Amino acid sequence: MPPEKEDIRNLSLEELKEVFSRWEEAEFRAAQMFKWLYQKNVQDLKQMTDFPRKLIAELEKRFFISSLVCLKTLAAKDGTKKFLWQLEDGHSIETVFIPEKSRRTLCLSTQVGCKFACPFCVSGSKGFVRQLRVAEIVGQILEAQRQTGLQMTNVVMMGIGEPLDNYENLVKAIRIINHPEGLSIGARKITVSTCGLVPGILKLKKLGLQVELSVSIHATTDDLRDKLVPINRRYNLERLLAACREYFESTDRVITFEYALIEGVNDSGFDAQRLGDMAQSLKAKVNLIPCNPNMSFCYRGSTEGRVKDFQRIVRSRGARVTIRSTRGSEIQAACGQLAFDREAAEEKGCQSRP
Ligand code: SAH
Repeated sequence: MPPEKEDIRNLSLEELKEVFSRWEEAEFRAAQMFKWLYQKNVQDLKQMTDFPRKLIAELEKRFFISSLVCLKTLAAKDGTKKFLWQLEDGHSIETVFIPEKSRRTLCLSTQVGCKFACPFCVSGSKGFVRQLRVAEIVGQILEAQRQTGLQMTNVVMMGIGEPLDNYENLVKAIRIINHPEGLSIGARKITVSTCGLVPGILKLKKLGLQVELSVSIHATTDDLRDKLVPINRRYNLERLLAACREYFESTDRVITFEYALIEGVNDSGFDAQRLGDMAQSLKAKVNLIPCNPNMSFCYRGSTEGRVKDFQRIVRSRGARVTIRSTRGSEIQAACGQLAFDREAAEEKGCQSRP
């Protein structure tokens, strides 16, 4: 691929309009093209049959449509599917498809690797490689729809990477996913999950996109959160909760606190009380996830009984709380099990506790 060419799906609708207006073409071409790219899912500009051939030739001089090559698909018994894609530069990322009765959710990656190094999450175990481009974020939906033959109804940015650390591309991708001429998925069916990048939360609030926000809380004291979610050393719980309050008050979207329960680490009754109080004061929902095992973090998820007790205590403080059902664990598709290079993570092995 000549390097000077750009994937046309990196462009927003406005940018496409600018291109056509610069070329003295009609503005409606932009929306027409969006339909071909995101609704008809074409893989070649030549397939846009209602475009004049001369215009296609012009477009082809400057743009192309990249593809995510499917290296592997793993299917779990519960219908969850994990896709391993190869990007144009050889790096790979993963996407998880989670079918339920009333919705079809796709869990997207936003970066190759991750900078934030939460010790229980395998995605961060090899550090950060690069940002995903807009076309690569949106491309995961297009390819998954092609592979499954199904339209996605919900999108969660909970795969590899930290979405708010790839802010510009994330927002452009969300606008394409949300646009009626694009993938047409409602903003409220798009969830951005963050480990707590306060400036990103505040920027997203200002945009007023109405997307759902999930915050990976995992600890209720700064001492513990500094260890479990190291970005806490930069943006502590006080600042994080203040940003959550601003997001909630200005968008009216209920925030979800994700909390991975780790046996003997963050699953005490006091943790549950503090979490319940935090959530209650923000009218936030709590989503408990028994921490999924991975080979480089030598702790166990809390037992089922402990998770239930924890839930009861959180609820007793007046907060809404659910337990997330673990999907696709036998294919390593569950939370925190996605890695751009699993083998390296597995080589590290487990040195201390099982
Ligand atoms: N960087 C973003 C999005 C990716 S992680 C974030 O931190 O929110 C998606 C969710 O999976 C986060 O809540 C994350 O904390 C959680 N997670 C990571 N590893 C996990 C594990 N081993 N068990 C359970 N949840 C985990």
